[in-house]
Amino acid sequence: MNGAKLSAISLDAALDVSRRPSSLEKQNGYSDWNLERATQRYQIQGWGAPYYHVNGQGQVDVTPDPERGQRINLYDLTLELRARGLDLPLLIRFPDIVGHRIKRINESFAKAIAEYEYQGTYRGVFPVKVNQQRHLVEEIVEVGRKWNFGLEAGSKPELLIALACMSDVGGLIICNGYKDRQYIETALLAQKFDKTVIIVLERLEELDIVFRASEKLGIRPLLGVRAKLTTRGVGRWADSAGDRAKFGLNTSEVVEVVEGLTQRNMLDSLQLLHFHIGSQISSIIPIKNAMQEASNIYVELAKMGCKMGYLDVGGGLAVDYDGSKTDFHASKNYQLDEYAADVVAHIQAACTKADVPVPTIVSESGRAIAAHHSVLVFEVVGRNEVRFAEPVEPTNEAHRLLKELYDTYRGIQPKNVQESYHDASQAKEEAQSLFKYGYFTLRERAQVERLYWNCCEKIQQTLRRLNFVPEELKHLDRTLSAIYYCNFSLFQSAPDIWAIDHLFPIMPIHRLEEEPTVSATLADLTCDSDGMIDRFIDVEDVRSSLDVHTLKPKESYFLGMFLNGAYQEILGDLHNLFGDTHAVHVALTEDGGHHVRHVIKGDSVSEVLRYVEYQPDSMVDAVRRQAERAVSAGRLTNDQLRTLMRHYEDSLRSYTYLTPGEDD
Ligand SMILES: *Cc1c(COP(=O)(O)O)cnc(C)c1O
Repeated sequence: MNGAKLSAISLDAALDVSRRPSSLEKQNGYSDWNLERATQRYQIQGWGAPYYHVNGQGQVDVTPDPERGQRINLYDLTLELRARGLDLPLLIRFPDIVGHRIKRINESFAKAIAEYEYQGTYRGVFPVKVNQQRHLVEEIVEVGRKWNFGLEAGSKPELLIALACMSDVGGLIICNGYKDRQYIETALLAQKFDKTVIIVLERLEELDIVFRASEKLGIRPLLGVRAKLTTRGVGRWADSAGDRAKFGLNTSEVVEVVEGLTQRNMLDSLQLLHFHIGSQISSIIPIKNAMQEASNIYVELAKMGCKMGYLDVGGGLAVDYDGSKTDFHASKNYQLDEYAADVVAHIQAACTKADVPVPTIVSESGRAIAAHHSVLVFEVVGRNEVRFAEPVEPTNEAHRLLKELYDTYRGIQPKNVQESYHDASQAKEEAQSLFKYGYFTLRERAQVERLYWNCCEKIQQTLRRLNFVPEELKHLDRTLSAIYYCNFSLFQSAPDIWAIDHLFPIMPIHRLEEEPTVSATLADLTCDSDGMIDRFIDVEDVRSSLDVHTLKPKESYFLGMFLNGAYQEILGDLHNLFGDTHAVHVALTEDGGHHVRHVIKGDSVSEVLRYVEYQPDSMVDAVRRQAERAVSAGRLTNDQLRTLMRHYEDSLRSYTYLTPGEDD
């Protein structure tokens, strides 16, 4: 799938320490499963450190603040929360992780600034669009105070959030996005507050609106420009830069802005240069190129007489979702320190060369701040496992096709996997046409198909011992994997998996001392066939199944989907009317424990129904009238009516997801 990722995988992976024991090894009782292997299998070190680990009991621990080291057992926490009536699926947020991320970014820039003896400072902002939830934005403003951390708004509603939440002196408010007069006038007036509000021009037309607003209100604006760089990012969001980009001004438009300002004697208004080359930039190379290009534009603007003071390098700082440390789209091939050093060094070099004072560096990292802090815990509620009984040798009287297919089955070995697969597939097709024309009974057809699946299973197991899997057989792993049905909605809780094939690390949060022996894909509760997860993280490529444990009767099995704190909540939708999940904020306390700081109850069924304009009361009435008629006609008893109405009314009040029944 990608060479880069292969070439950069760690030595451990190259030696294949996490290789699954083959069925032969299993048959011989060879299994050296231990917690070390569990850690490797799920790559938790790669994507989770320093926040998530496997503990000594085979459960996942969270260390929200690695410097304090307090651990929270995620499995115990889930049980505790459930015991308090917070049913799964449950989104657990750890605000201390956000605090630590903000601290780390600031420290990395501080380190680079010291190292390069850079004569300016760093002031980060959090782009509100990444996660607008009030409790989270408030936490960010609170922990960010120490670092003068600000907020970035990408729309009018987000500006309103920024103005209400940032009551401190100091932090920046960066106003991006398309703007109308109301947006611009609000921002201009807020420039009179005791904070720095900068209006970034994204389109040339906005300059005219600014001129008119500024004249009307008598306020000189503080402006920035967003430049379209020629440097493009990589992957999904590569089109955020370049000439065809949706946002920003090209070179001639930037010059037009400068000329317009000069004419009005307002050159000192333009103080910030902004660019954003896309999200999740997995390689450091485009970042370096963009820095170089932007630094040169900055220097030119200063030389043209603008009172430049800020260079805003946008977002794009990536998250290593698969832990492979490569430039694969779900990963990144650089560390925070390297990123900060590159930003500082390029700006420094350009400014020194041109003898222009260095700017205050602003960055708008969203994903890198918010992704790690939340985990979705959900439960497996059932499974559909493909299990085949050992085939029995066909009798002498059996159909020729069945006997031939049995020989194929017996003869499968490494050197003929592909040929055997062709033979088996042909036999299956032949059986289907024999059936179609009436020469085969349903029972005979079933025997052939069963034997076909036996062949596939044996081929798949044989393939596991080989280093190479032929392209046409790659689908077998997926076809033969079990389906685990899970109590959550992909569309609500992880829409990017559906929309852009995003990868989030997913793993069981307990039973890790036990070897996971089932390969499964995950299906959600929606009745949409897209509500499936069949792409999982892997060091080398993408896997089509997840290793999970067998389900035990009457025992809950919990999976965690990690690093989903960025973008998922607001993009989530109400497909099949599954609403917001419950969310809790779990914060560390001074005395070494933790407590639940906020509980944000998920949607009830009536809430989502009202959202699509139903009136739960009239729905109750409508059902009641039908029930009464059925009682009058003697089709329903009074008891049955009471039960029906109780269920109907209780359901309206309940969580939209599956909840344990009273008798369970
Ligand atoms: C989305 C966005 C960001 C955040 O990007 P991340 O990749 O999440 O850091 C920053 N700035 C602008 C202008 C954006 O549109």
